[in-house]
Amino acid sequence: MTPVSPDTSLSASLDAATALLRDARRIVVFSGAGLSRASGIPTYRDADGLWKSQNALQFSHAEDLQRDPSGFTKFWAQRLSVVESAQPNPGHAALAQLQRLRPATRLVTQNVDGLLTLAGGQDVLELHGSLRRWRCDHCGNRSGPWPFHRCLRCGSHARPDVVMFGEMLNAGVLLDAQVAAQECDLFLVVGSTTIVYPAAELPQTALAHGAKLVTLNLEPLPHLDDAASAVLRGASEDLLPRLLAGMA
Ligand SMILES: [Zn+2]
Repeated sequence: MTPVSPDTSLSASLDAATALLRDARRIVVFSGAGLSRASGIPTYRDADGLWKSQNALQFSHAEDLQRDPSGFTKFWAQRLSVVESAQPNPGHAALAQLQRLRPATRLVTQNVDGLLTLAGGQDVLELHGSLRRWRCDHCGNRSGPWPFHRCLRCGSHARPDVVMFGEMLNAGVLLDAQVAAQECDLFLVVGSTTIVYPAAELPQTALAHGAKLVTLNLEPLPHLDDAASAVLRGASEDLLPRLLAGMA
């Protein structure tokens, strides 16, 4: 037999994944940090990753706000400015386009950057919240503006509406994601290692309910790739537009 070159193999996987997407009606796309890498959002696991920095370790728990309000606010305001200066990349745009082609598509993400919505994604299920929303835990205020990241109602320091370490996920968002995983016929993992809960559970839920699985990630996903109908190894900003081009 002629050895299959990596290019041929990727091309065959793209064809297979495109055919699966074309046949699917209810699609769930589960995305993680890899989707936003090309937009310049630092990921958790990169060598220069956000969570390697001392500041991130100091300000990743909600109680850090009481311990050091000005340090906490400064850290999260910097995170917000990174996100606000970022633009959606072709991967985000392709997922928004997929949702237009298949309106029952649910976009579930671990990312807190809001870039899927900015790209035109509808009703994005943000499992870890959004850096673009802030709230006041002191008085419960959830509506801005937040001048100097303070609450206008009670004067307390505000915080981003993201799930910090030690906090529970939003139960309603999680339930919507679980129901979507149960009801979908195709579950597509994009740029997520899917190791932490609930990311680890949702693809298994979809598989248990008869959905097909497609994985798209830079690195192998040993716990998922064996169960996948198509495995795409590469960058989402490159491969997602190619997938969508095949559907047109
Ligand atoms: Zn307040």
